Amino acid sequence: MPSADVVIIGGGASGTSTAFHLAALGVPNVVLLERRYLASGATGKSGSLVRMHYTNETESRLAFESLKIFQDFDAVVGGHCGFETAGFIQIVPSGYERALARNVERQRQIGIDTRVISRDEVRRLLPGSHVDDIGAAAHEPGSGFADPNATTFAFAEAAKRLGATLKLSCEATRIITQHDRVAAVETTQGRIDTPVVVVAAGAWAGHLLQPLGLDFGLTPHRVQISIFRWPPGFAGRHPAVIDAVHRLWFRPEGQASTLAGVELGVKHADPDLLDEGVDPGYVARCREKLAARLPVFGEAPMRGGWAGLIMMSPDGRPIIDQIPSVPGLYGMLGDSGTSFKTAPAIGRCLAEWIVYGKPRTVDLTPFRSTRFAEGQPWHDEDNYGTERLTISR
Ligand SMILES: Cc1cc2nc3c(=O)[nH]c(=O)nc-3n(C[C@H](O)[C@H](O)[C@H](O)COP(=O)(O)OP(=O)(O)OC[C@H]3O[C@@H](n4cnc5c(N)ncnc54)[C@H](O)[C@@H]3O)c2cc1C
Repeated sequence: MPSADVVIIGGGASGTSTAFHLAALGVPNVVLLERRYLASGATGKSGSLVRMHYTNETESRLAFESLKIFQDFDAVVGGHCGFETAGFIQIVPSGYERALARNVERQRQIGIDTRVISRDEVRRLLPGSHVDDIGAAAHEPGSGFADPNATTFAFAEAAKRLGATLKLSCEATRIITQHDRVAAVETTQGRIDTPVVVVAAGAWAGHLLQPLGLDFGLTPHRVQISIFRWPPGFAGRHPAVIDAVHRLWFRPEGQASTLAGVELGVKHADPDLLDEGVDPGYVARCREKLAARLPVFGEAPMRGGWAGLIMMSPDGRPIIDQIPSVPGLYGMLGDSGTSFKTAPAIGRCLAEWIVYGKPRTVDLTPFRSTRFAEGQPWHDEDNYGTERLTISR
């Protein structure tokens, strides 16, 4: 019977990062299972913004620890993650000036390079932008975006180099417990005995959690993006932007296009019946919102788009935990559409937890799975009106 020290279920950014960090910490027999191919879930579809601006300290810390890895990826992991230091601007409507200033101050306290900027500075960083409706804005010169597929492939390759085994086209069908703790994983290619399982299965995690009696209120959602070719007169590369006025986010894509997403129209979805294409109505909505900030995009040719699946948790924050009722079971669950940028640190923290008995890089207590049962779902005082909006992308 094959066995492993740790079995990781899911070959996205979270699973591959965890596999790499476990192998780097010297765990000899790590097996990663992926039902399809690497980055075939949310990761491969990600907008992959890498920004530090959150409305709470913990998520900013996770993003900041991850940024250090993105910035020095070849030395830390090996290979390329496609990180581009395009800079990042967070825009919020009037009424949230103080909240933004407090968030920026919190981020500066932990060492993040960010500051509040004026409307004129937004216009300078984003030439041609309409700025009259901006309440306040923050800038992070060292942030940007990465290539989510390259990042995942590189984590996987590095994990393999360090001795981990990757089993692609291999689905975990059941987590087997014995005496109420993890004992094995049943897969489409046979059973693997193991005392430790990490579930990083994205929108498909429900299939594995339900038989264990675990229900955290997670719901798969289909989310889309659309790409627009730069129109004539548009002056080159721009920073990544989250615009809470228009519920819009965008960043450069390739050499002459912008990838954009709008928040609206997110719906529950069946993860086994995903339509990967972008809806025509969504493209029109993206163009309209993008043009509201950068009017020149009103006449930008559409160059494609796609849909992917995220898993929302009830409070829009991930669950990252050793599930207390099932010893040996760890989870990165409910990515909530915001967990590519934090995957490097999430993987490191989970590996530390498994090897040292607790995470060392960032305290993960706020992400505990029991917060809902305790009646303490996540709440940020300094959110920007819609709590979920502040954490998306
Ligand atoms: C359109 C879009 C835009 C986004 N933009 C951003 C952004 O700008 N910044 C950001 O930080 N985040 C963003 N996100 C969110 C981010 O991509 C996800 O939070 C992150 O990629 C989640 O990674 P993961 O590895 O946890 O899950 P996934 O990437 O979903 O990986 C889960 C993997 O598990 C596999 N799997 C599932 N069940 C099994 C099983 N039983 N056995 C074996 N394998 C299994 C799946 O095939 C899949 O490959 C975006 C997401 C989308 C869809």
